[in-house]
Amino acid sequence: MATGTPPKNKGQKKCPNCGEPTVPKFRPFCSTRCSQLDLSKWFNEDFRVPVVETDDFNEDDFPDEDYEN
Ligand SMILES: [Zn+2]
Repeated sequence: MATGTPPKNKGQKKCPNCGEPTVPKFRPFCSTRCSQLDLSKWFNEDFRVPVVETDDFNEDDFPDEDYEN
């Protein structure tokens, strides 16, 4: 792979999500998609949003009697 000199993105920041060159409009990302992806990831890690558990669904509320096979 000796196809000339690799482009040195000097001063060019990369999208932290996918590594693509940053688009000023979407800084510091390359696209809306990446910014949202990263945001959601960030949210999940930082706030540790608990998985929505269906604790409201107590089996006691659902008698299995009608569901016998
Ligand atoms: Zn990206």
